[in-house]
Amino acid sequence: MDLGIAGRRALVCGASKGLGRGCAQALAREGVAVTIVARTEDTLARAAQDIGAAGYVACDITTPSGRAAALAACPEPDILVTNAGGPPPGDFRDWDRDAWIRALDANMLTPIELIKATVDAMAARGFGRVINITSQAVKAPIDILGLSNGARSGLTGFVAGIARKLARSGVTINNLLPGNFDTDRLRTTMQGRAKAAGKDVETVVASAREAIPVGRFGSAEEFGAVCAFVCSVHAGYLVGQNILLDGGVYPGTF
Ligand code: NAD
Repeated sequence: MDLGIAGRRALVCGASKGLGRGCAQALAREGVAVTIVARTEDTLARAAQDIGAAGYVACDITTPSGRAAALAACPEPDILVTNAGGPPPGDFRDWDRDAWIRALDANMLTPIELIKATVDAMAARGFGRVINITSQAVKAPIDILGLSNGARSGLTGFVAGIARKLARSGVTINNLLPGNFDTDRLRTTMQGRAKAAGKDVETVVASAREAIPVGRFGSAEEFGAVCAFVCSVHAGYLVGQNILLDGGVYPGTF
């Protein structure tokens, strides 16, 4: 299927590895001019070369100067993929105000600032796609990821409101909710769970895999493929949705 987005410009955040990289790769394969963002120059430069990215910006996207640098490199994206590292796992009793502000900055306010900076120009051009990489934790919270549950739910509520306001101008905003994908982040989360449960990591990984109806963790490539479809011309009727990619873990009918 031709996704109809060749020649479009995309800004993909948190894209030197993991899910962001999967999205950047899938978009680049469709002929999109992709600018990728992550903090570490050398891994990012390597990723840009592997993916065939149009450009890259080494910066911390959760800071105003980082966002300014990213938007200077890709000033008028047609496609925006928001993503940054997730907050650390832990016990809510240990999180002070600073920990909460860091989580809100990274996983709620950064996507909101990037949306604010880009969607009006998308609307003026009559086409735009925003994908926020959030988490299954929005739908099925995980106790040790309370910072993530809270910050991402705030973003989800915000998106639900504005997605409807922009839909008429050809701009769609949707969230992709990863379950367990085989990335560095998953390994950190598993270590956190093992520590909290007093078990070894291998045991926790094996039982997590066992609990997934498809019997395996997801790959960044399959996450990227869904992202590319949602960014395509064929997905113009998909507005303000929370698309759960979890191998069937969530047991609800809806
Ligand atoms: P990852 O650690 O494999 O990759 C994260 C990427 O973001 C890297 O390229 C990193 O350099 C970049 N990054 C992190 N902080 C950044 C910052 N401040 N500025 C710029 N770049 C930054 O993580 P992942 O597994 O790909 O996860 C992506 C997002 O999805 C995270 O927010 C994570 O919490 C969430 N998530 C992942 C899973 C999973 O199973 N992998 C599940 C639920 C939610």
